[in-house]
Amino acid sequence: MYNSPSPLEVQVLTRRFRLPNSHSIETYLQNDGYKAVEKALGMSQEDIINEVKASGLRGRGGAGFPTGMKWGFVPRTSPKPKYIMVNGDESEPGTCKDRLLMQYDPHQLIEGIIIAGQAVGAEQGYIYIRGEFRYLIEHMDRAIAEAYQRGFLGANIFGSGKTFHLATHSGAGAYECGEESALLESFEGKRGNPRIRPPFPAVAGAYQCPTILNNVETYCAVPSIILNGAAHFAGLGSPKNGGTRLFCLSGHVNKPGVYELPMGFNLMRMINEVGGGVRGGKKLKAVIPGGSSCPVLKADECDLAMDFDSVAAAKSMLGSGGVVVMDEDTCMVKAALRIMRFYAHESCGWCIPCREGTTWLRKLLQRFHDGMGTKSDIVLIGDLSKNMLGRTFCPLGDAAAMPTIAFVEKFRDEFEAHLDGKPCPYEKSSKLVAA
Ligand code: SF4
Repeated sequence: MYNSPSPLEVQVLTRRFRLPNSHSIETYLQNDGYKAVEKALGMSQEDIINEVKASGLRGRGGAGFPTGMKWGFVPRTSPKPKYIMVNGDESEPGTCKDRLLMQYDPHQLIEGIIIAGQAVGAEQGYIYIRGEFRYLIEHMDRAIAEAYQRGFLGANIFGSGKTFHLATHSGAGAYECGEESALLESFEGKRGNPRIRPPFPAVAGAYQCPTILNNVETYCAVPSIILNGAAHFAGLGSPKNGGTRLFCLSGHVNKPGVYELPMGFNLMRMINEVGGGVRGGKKLKAVIPGGSSCPVLKADECDLAMDFDSVAAAKSMLGSGGVVVMDEDTCMVKAALRIMRFYAHESCGWCIPCREGTTWLRKLLQRFHDGMGTKSDIVLIGDLSKNMLGRTFCPLGDAAAMPTIAFVEKFRDEFEAHLDGKPCPYEKSSKLVAA
């Protein structure tokens, strides 16, 4: 999955990935490991937060919220304990990078978490890891044990008198638990339904205490920011989008893989120069730029800087970095159906527009793909999706609706090509099995 490096890659987060035993604490220590936390222990909480703010680091889980600003929301004077929570519930279709960060360089993550703890005065952190990643939970547990043995975790870190403890927590296989408030409910042993906000986790998170909650990749960027300075990190990316990020390039490209590239890297260059072009020399039809919840881009919209603001200006989202490339032979009705099958399956059922809407859309799209749709169904698919937008407790409803709206609006001709009992023009003999 992690390919040989492209000459265009910039290695910050992945710079130790190819070293022998990259996951071991010895390799980490030989390559600047735990130097950033030592430096952070000599900084004030404000200085750490200001450094992260100045770096332009934005959350890598999908929303792209400025990380330093989020850390600044934690009330300093709260008498309650504060917690650091790591979202390692990576489940977005098309996204497969957090697992690599934990697998190849677990101590980078641990160091970032400890620094976050110093920034907000927390003494306890938890890594919430997707339940299917059993091997990674054991892997992270071994790395945490190594860090305790060396005195990087526990009491009196580096003789500073400061304490920080860290443990893993297993999810149970629900996409919904990647949403921060549902993750907190699940962490507390309850059903993983989202919470009504405000209050946000920075004020009332785990056990109703102030909690910083960020994605794995976000924490992994922090040691480099502290060690090399905010200006270095900010300079790697584009304005207001500091640093590099891991892009998970999949689909119809010659060299799919996870690549670390600067924020703002051009999408067409990513496909052609990093990914080796569209497979089989075929034409590009469409790209999902940030995971299945992000509206699809047509080929002529792909000359685009891959940062949060530029992709938002193109009416999609950078999301979690899952770039799915589709060639000219891809059926867009089937693509919409595959995505909706996922969301209908993963809807937690808490609110009606999502629970009923995703199932209804899945059935409609299935019928459509099978050649039994009518012209009015095209309008109905669009209307149903639009009526889900903004009417659900958590973003899953929007995540299901937004790509569907884009598929219908941008590829209406393909929907019409499936009308009147015609077989799928791209897949003559196929019928998807209903979920
Ligand atoms: Fe559950 Fe869907 Fe409502 Fe989110 S939007 S709370 S996943 S039913």
